[in-house]
Amino acid sequence: MSSPVRVLLVGAAGRMGKTVLHLASNDPKIELGAQCDLGDQIEPAIKNCDVAIDFSHADAIEEICRAALQHGKSLVIGTTGHSQEQRRTIEEAARSLPIVFASNFSVGVNVLFWLTRKTSELLGQDFNPEIIETHHKMKKDAPSGTAKTLADVLKTTQKLQSEISIQSIREGEVVGEHAVIFMGPGERLELTHRAASREIFARGALRAAHWIMGKPPGLYSMQDVLGL
Ligand code: NAD
Repeated sequence: MSSPVRVLLVGAAGRMGKTVLHLASNDPKIELGAQCDLGDQIEPAIKNCDVAIDFSHADAIEEICRAALQHGKSLVIGTTGHSQEQRRTIEEAARSLPIVFASNFSVGVNVLFWLTRKTSELLGQDFNPEIIETHHKMKKDAPSGTAKTLADVLKTTQKLQSEISIQSIREGEVVGEHAVIFMGPGERLELTHRAASREIFARGALRAAHWIMGKPPGLYSMQDVLGL
């Protein structure tokens, strides 16, 4: 067996961070090299790791990219809610480093992205798409990164200039639900994904950390990791 991938986890004290820690401790292919949270320095922590997994806050991205560039380390970015400028920082870093950047690491949601593209192509412009996303009340960004990705898929396939309607609901403990609704003349088609546990995202991020080893620089998606 090849040696385990050494991971720096950024945002280790958060909901996703704790889930990644739990799964990584039972995964022989992953070794937790270091962990950081708010107030910790990322540069010294990344030095002895192969890849950093980020589930923290969008504002951490400059420091994470700077540290990864300094030491030539790969990145798996799960944090959402980045500004245009922060996204440019990621794109710039991906010229020199392999980076997986995914608004959602679940296999089911990535199949939903694929199905949304196919459905949109098949139904055409007679059907108006809209998105409804529901998350727990503690979620900081709205709409969710996944809903924005779904909107981008729809805009691209339907060649739309106008924005796609996204309804964001924040209630209870909901881990994450995304519905894409196509309203047509006399009929309606719905594609829905419901996440029951954060483990689906953590498992996908660890899979991405493994996949990215040895890849050339570039900005990759979870669909690349899954070969969709
Ligand atoms: P959370 O608020 O529970 O945890 C975030 C953690 O990051 C906290 O411990 C916080 O102290 C820490 N943090 C904040 N700023 C930091 C900084 N500058 N440096 C280091 N650590 C910092 O949030 P969460 O529910 O764990 O989600 C974290 C992020 O992951 C959010 O952006 C969320 O939308 C995203 N998310 C992505 C996926 C996916 O599949 N891509 C899935 C779930 C959540």
